[in-house]
Amino acid sequence: MDTIEKINLLVQKKLMVPSTAKVYVESNGKCVYCGIDVVSDRYLYATSEIDHLFPRARYKDLEEHPKNIVLACYCCNGKKQKFDPMKLPIASGKKVEEILNDDQLREKVIDAIRKEKSLSESETNNKVKKSHTDFDQVKAIIKG
Ligand SMILES: [Zn+2]
Repeated sequence: MDTIEKINLLVQKKLMVPSTAKVYVESNGKCVYCGIDVVSDRYLYATSEIDHLFPRARYKDLEEHPKNIVLACYCCNGKKQKFDPMKLPIASGKKVEEILNDDQLREKVIDAIRKEKSLSESETNNKVKKSHTDFDQVKAIIKG
C-alpha cells in the first residue's frame, strides 16, 4: 500500500482529517521529536498529538502549512508547548517560511528543539512505563 492509499483509508475508514492522516502516515507513526513509535502502544497512540512546529498562537498564518504540522507524543508536546523555535540560535537571521521550506534547515531546527527541551525516546519510554504501572495500580484498587 502506498502513502496516498494509506492516507485515503485513514480518512475514509477512520474519519481522520486529511492533514492529520498525512502527518501520521508520512512520519510512519513516529514522534518527530523523540522518534518513539506512537502506534506501538495504545496509550501512546491515544495521547499522541498534532503539533505545530511554529505555535499557532504566534504564527496564525502557518496553522495549515503542511511543513508546520508534525506528529508528537504527549510527552514531547507537553515539554515543548508553545516554545518558539525562532528563539533558537540556528533560526537567527532567518525567516520562518525559509525554515519550513528548506527540509535540511527544518530538520536542524527540529534537532535544536530536541536538544533545547531534552526530548528523548528513553525518557518518553520511562513515562509510558510509569503510566501503565499507574493504570494497573489504579485499576487494581478500584476493581478490588
Ligand atoms: Zn516524543
